[in-house]
Amino acid sequence: MSRDDSAAGAGTAAAAGVAPPDGVLIRLEDLGKVYRMGAEEVHALRDVTLEIRRNEYVAIVGPSGSGKSTLMNLIGCLDTPSSGRYFLNGQMVSGLEDDDLARIRNREIGFVFQTFNLLARASALRNVELPLIYRGIPSEERRERALRALEQVGLSDRRKHRPSELSGGQRQRVAIARALVTEPSLLLADEPTGNLDSTTSAEIMDLFDRLHAMGNAIIVVTHERDIALHARRVIALHDGRVARDGPVGLVFGEGGGR
Ligand code: ADP
Ligand code: MG
Repeated sequence: MSRDDSAAGAGTAAAAGVAPPDGVLIRLEDLGKVYRMGAEEVHALRDVTLEIRRNEYVAIVGPSGSGKSTLMNLIGCLDTPSSGRYFLNGQMVSGLEDDDLARIRNREIGFVFQTFNLLARASALRNVELPLIYRGIPSEERRERALRALEQVGLSDRRKHRPSELSGGQRQRVAIARALVTEPSLLLADEPTGNLDSTTSAEIMDLFDRLHAMGNAIIVVTHERDIALHARRVIALHDGRVARDGPVGLVFGEGGGR
């Protein structure tokens, strides 16, 4: 891995004024990811350079194997790049060690997954409280914030229900409330409607629209055009490179049938 230059001064780089200008949430510079499988190298991402601002709603699209999950794992601080630099909120996070990455992840990013990833034995309220428990937030404040997050997704009346007592769409809304409860800089959703029927998918995407209108930055990874059409900007990957990047109408407009 060639992250020699980044590991040393990660914390001081931002302090030294290298931080990107205000309004920029994510800055990727020549980001690359190589997976090594024995003697073979898989270049999952190559030379990805882009910026995402604080108020953006972005869809990352592309065929299977194009690098969507790899890019989302890097942006979400779940993995580290093989080359290039990643700034999140002005802080260089490429090259950070696992503990520091985990701390940044907890503070900055709310994740929404295709499979919801809720605790089966816990109520909706308890599920939403969990990230605050990990942070050591006192129980009263925790409960208050979790209730507010459930209200945001329209599920106040289901707070005592367990996941098995909720529909798929409701489960995903609980997961979204859990992602929101820490007030992250960024909501990162990986195929959030992949396990939902089309009506329920539309409800979830309406909710994302509202959350974006409220000022949340959202990145949705999807292979579905209908889902991507909710975003304002589309980044299309092909063979690990950014093939297109622009307003949703432009990216899908030109010969953009299904
Ligand atoms: P997508 O999410 O767009 O389907 P991925 O980011 O999962 O694409 O994968 C991009 C490329 O990297 C693919 O060729 C895939 O086989 C490879 N890849 C992904 N994860 C790994 C891994 N952990 N080890 C080796 N190769 C991987
Ligand atoms: Mg994937």
